[in-house]
Formats: sequence, structure tokens, C-alpha cells
Amino acid sequence: MIPLLDRLTAIRDRLHHAASRANRDPASIELMAVSKTFPVEAIQEAVDAGQTLFGENRVQEILTKAPLLPPHLRWHLIGPLQSNKIRKILPHVELIQSVHSLDIARHIHRIATELNLRPQILLEINIAAEPSKHGFSPDVLNTQFDDLLSLDRLQIQGLMAIPPFEENPETTRPHFASLRDLRDHLQSRSHLPLPTLSMGMSHDFEIAIEEGSTLIRVGTAIFGGR
Ligand SMILES: *Cc1c(COP(=O)(O)O)cnc(C)c1O
Repeated sequence: MIPLLDRLTAIRDRLHHAASRANRDPASIELMAVSKTFPVEAIQEAVDAGQTLFGENRVQEILTKAPLLPPHLRWHLIGPLQSNKIRKILPHVELIQSVHSLDIARHIHRIATELNLRPQILLEINIAAEPSKHGFSPDVLNTQFDDLLSLDRLQIQGLMAIPPFEENPETTRPHFASLRDLRDHLQSRSHLPLPTLSMGMSHDFEIAIEEGSTLIRVGTAIFGGR
């Protein structure tokens, strides 16, 4: 098997090439390593290769792994958050990417108030309107956006989406473009910066970068199959 360092280097190269094709500064795109299901030894290998940003989709995995790894690592929660886990996870993550409803945002806000924290979040959008997926529909988000903004302890940094897997990643391009358009719309409507567009995974991150992604979430292409 190809060493993790080489896989990571190859992804960084592809990130740079995709950015050049789109006339974008590669430094404006961050690479997250999605380490869910992988042991701390694999994460440490990525750390040794210079990776500092990691994503997990379960609260418990972050709580178990983070203490065994260097303290400078940054963790994002990218999986569905249950209200009873918020208190535990808030102090340990830099950002929660998977805020999928006004209800959960209110829970986070209440606990952040108690803990005197100002958590950074992304709003998760069900961009292809898939019944099986979490996330705001663009319509609901437009309706609830002012309510979300009134939760003044939450620092809303932008949007995140997990479009459907397509054999040909070109097919996903319109979904990435829709997410960017939605972000642009909310930004001009609220006059608040929403700099982060978290979109693109192992299979389609180059297309996502061409469509404006600022944060790609790559698991399999770094760590191997799960
Ligand atoms: C697992 C996961 C990823 C990474 O997917 P890969 O196809 O392994 O790169 C990205 N985002 C989310 C939300 C995930 O759950």
C-alpha cells in the first residue's frame, strides 16, 4: 500500500492544481482529514505528515482519540449531533459543521451560554433534497435565517453539504454551485460574512474546489477504505 505521506502529498498536489484551474489561491482552501473509524496510530501518521485539521462524525470518537494525540490538533464534528451530546463536545471542537436544524442550533446556543463559549458552526444543507439526509432545505433556511442570527453566541461561519455520491463527479457540480449560490444569497441578504463553504470529499473534491469550496473533507483518499 502507498504510504500515508505519499497519499496526503498527492491530495495536496491535486488541491493546488484544482485551485489553479479555477484561478484561486490554494491557501484559501483547507484540507480536512476525515479520520472516522481510523485508530490514533493512523492519525498520528497524518500529523507527522503535517496535517493538523481532523474531522470525525461521532462525538465519542473525538472524546476518545483527542486526548491521545498532540494538543495542537484541531477537531471538527461533521456528523449528526444529538442534543444530549452538546455539553460534552463543545469544549473540544473548533467548529461544528453539522448544525442541521433551528432546534439543534437553539440547544447549542443555550449550552454555550451556560458554558460561556462562542462556538463556531456551519449550517448543514440538504442540497439535493434527499429524504434520507439531514440538513436545512434552502427554503427552510431562508425562512429561519433571522432566527438563527438572533442566537448571538453562535458564530455562523458558512455552509456545509454532502451531495449524493455520483459515479461521475461532474454530475455533482450543480449541487456544489447551488450551495455556493445559497451562501452568496444569505451573505448579501444579511451583510454578514459567511466565508466557509465545506464541500467536496475524496471522490469529488476537485470539482468542489472549482465551484468555490474553502474546506474539503477527505477520508478514504488519505486513510484508505473503511
Ligand atoms: C466520511 C465523511 C467524509 C469523507 O468521505 P470520503 O469519501 O471517505 O472522503 C466527508 N464528510 C462527511 C460528512 C463524512 O461523514
